[in-house]
Amino acid sequence: MGIPLSQALAVGSYVLRQHLRGRKRYPLVLMLEPLFRCNLACAGCGKIDYPDKILDQRLSVADCMQAIDECGAPVVVLAGGEPLLHRELSEIVGGALAKRKYITVCTNALLMQKKLEQYQPHPRFNWSVHLDGDEEMHDRSVCKTGVYDRAVSAIEAAKAKGFRVNINCTLFSDADPERVARFFDTVVTLGVDGITVSPGYAYERAPDQQHFLNRTRTKQLFRDIFSYRGRWSWPLYQSGLFLDFLAGNQTYHCTPWGNPTRTVFGWQRPCYLLGEGYAKTFKELMEDTAWDKYGTGNYEKCADCMVHSGYEATAVMDSVSRPWKLAKLAIAGIKTEGPMAPDIPLDRQRSAQYVFSKHVQQKLDEIAEAEARPQNVAAAE
Ligand code: SF4
Repeated sequence: MGIPLSQALAVGSYVLRQHLRGRKRYPLVLMLEPLFRCNLACAGCGKIDYPDKILDQRLSVADCMQAIDECGAPVVVLAGGEPLLHRELSEIVGGALAKRKYITVCTNALLMQKKLEQYQPHPRFNWSVHLDGDEEMHDRSVCKTGVYDRAVSAIEAAKAKGFRVNINCTLFSDADPERVARFFDTVVTLGVDGITVSPGYAYERAPDQQHFLNRTRTKQLFRDIFSYRGRWSWPLYQSGLFLDFLAGNQTYHCTPWGNPTRTVFGWQRPCYLLGEGYAKTFKELMEDTAWDKYGTGNYEKCADCMVHSGYEATAVMDSVSRPWKLAKLAIAGIKTEGPMAPDIPLDRQRSAQYVFSKHVQQKLDEIAEAEARPQNVAAAE
């Protein structure tokens, strides 16, 4: 397993404390996106299709520290956009470490080697380098040649300096299980500490709408990947029950509040993948979101989702409430043959709503209003 024991214990004891306090909903991982701007334009990405005025927005260090305090989750993931484009990212990482959080910076690694000297290795700090497969698979996924080689060089440089380095791999419908298994074997030889793997979410704004997986294909793909012998040596940075869910052996409902997301728009409703509205504060997000309207079976846009940002929290909470399930899995391994667990019926889900343009216009109006305020006029003179 790729999750360090200290982190697993810290998260497990946090979950237990929440249960003992009787909290019905609580966050596990804060997804902090301090900007949307990226230096790549990947085919399966639905995060960067904004006007320049929005891509130029940044969360300040103070905004990020406030979000970490408001949320209280033990783990903070800095994503984007490309977070290394944020000039103050190292300060944000340092501030989060000072608050005793476990920090991951998700990066496409194009700037990583150049910026490594701004960071120090720390047992609670991970790089998570985006790699969607071997050289051909990854460069196709990010729509640019040479990116795989630069990412591998950055991983090697970071490992040489003593950093913890994970990779995050998103799989689409054209993934070949044997090739994915061989790729995981390769990254193990690079010395990576963890592998996060997930099916791609069908972002409505992604340029390539042809290669997203549905649930049935996702489960079979993961069964086929896990049937390769190398799985025993892959340091998968996810809970065992989440991987078992990906292989079709658990019926889980989404826990969208498990990975709350703060962006330049505010606190995103309901989850990391869907921006259906924004709250000004974390409290407002937790208290005023109609959570029952989301998740597979409730909403059309959630029908095929099996992404860790929605289901990992469900698996972690299940592991803590029913530790015997985890023990059984550790002994028997992930089942890759035989009947799958029943899936959630979709016959009562509500139809998709398309609100992207409305939120973009609201944000543009907000930016224009802020720019027109007298202090900005004075500053511009
Ligand atoms: S199933 Fe959950 S995580 Fe997935 S898109 Fe819906 S609300 Fe978000």
